[in-house]
Amino acid sequence: MPSILNADLHCHSVVSDGTLTPEALAARAKANGVELWALTDHDEIGGQQRAAAAASAIGMHYLTGVEISVTFVAQTVHIVGLGFDPENPALKLGLNQTRGGRGQRAMDMSDGLAKAGIPGAYDGALKFAGNHELISRTHFARFLVESGVCRDTYEVFRKYLTEGKPGFVEHRWASLKDAVTWIREAGGVAVIAHPARYKFTSNEEFALFSEFKSHGGQGVEVVTGSHTAAEYITYADTAREFGLAASRGSDFHSPDESHTELGTLPYLPGKLTPVWELLADRIRHASVESPGASAPTGH
Ligand code: AMP
Ligand code: MN
Ligand code: MN
Ligand code: MN
Repeated sequence: MPSILNADLHCHSVVSDGTLTPEALAARAKANGVELWALTDHDEIGGQQRAAAAASAIGMHYLTGVEISVTFVAQTVHIVGLGFDPENPALKLGLNQTRGGRGQRAMDMSDGLAKAGIPGAYDGALKFAGNHELISRTHFARFLVESGVCRDTYEVFRKYLTEGKPGFVEHRWASLKDAVTWIREAGGVAVIAHPARYKFTSNEEFALFSEFKSHGGQGVEVVTGSHTAAEYITYADTAREFGLAASRGSDFHSPDESHTELGTLPYLPGKLTPVWELLADRIRHASVESPGASAPTGH
């Protein structure tokens, strides 16, 4: 598949903190011209079969996907996995363990919010969670908007759910090494998600990229909904510097909340190896080609 490809390899469904089903996301991606798609729910691959089937049925190529929460130098980093075997036992167990602490964390968040004068947040957030194992800050944000505490979810994060704010709870996620290893051993490619979002010093960022590489990580998101145009250039340079392939994904969560729509970002800048080049034999080719679409490339 060529470098210039409408690939969207990062988005969320109701299986984590998105508001659309895997089927609705597939249809929306297809309608927006996405040619290669991956659903990357947080710490959870329960939606993969549905997403792959929906993509196949409407003539869209598919890669399995996940976004793993990692703790690195006391910050949360997200590692996207693409093209892995979703039946791999070590990956499934690792994701299960990573999800495991979310219930207690949510109760602690709720206690913090109660002390700040907002009662009932645990039950309120749970109502928004399509998957009770995957209760996230986003579900709390939706509850606080619904109850009129804030105008939108961005305001909730700013005032209540980020470090130092009443609903924020320190949490230890997977290690970088474990997350990359689970993805690699399941036959996939590990990708550093939205690197510009982290608040690392340049030394810490260098350590993140170096350690990620040394564990077998192979890609970095260059074009993502969380980056500015200037950051596309910065991380295209970083990809070349570290010899990493480049990925592209909207990080779409919801028609009402997301600033970036599926399949609408600029293409990857030139002179980069697209991650889908590393994953050619992992792409699940569509069983039907939609009218006017080009024929499968023969992988
Ligand atoms: P969690 O995994 O429970 O910590 O939730 C993280 C999710 O919250 C991210 O994947 C985003 O969807 C959302 N999120 C994190 N920070 C912000 C923010 N500042 N504004 C809006 N949404 C955010
Ligand atoms: Mn999210
Ligand atoms: Mn993320
Ligand atoms: Mn994401």
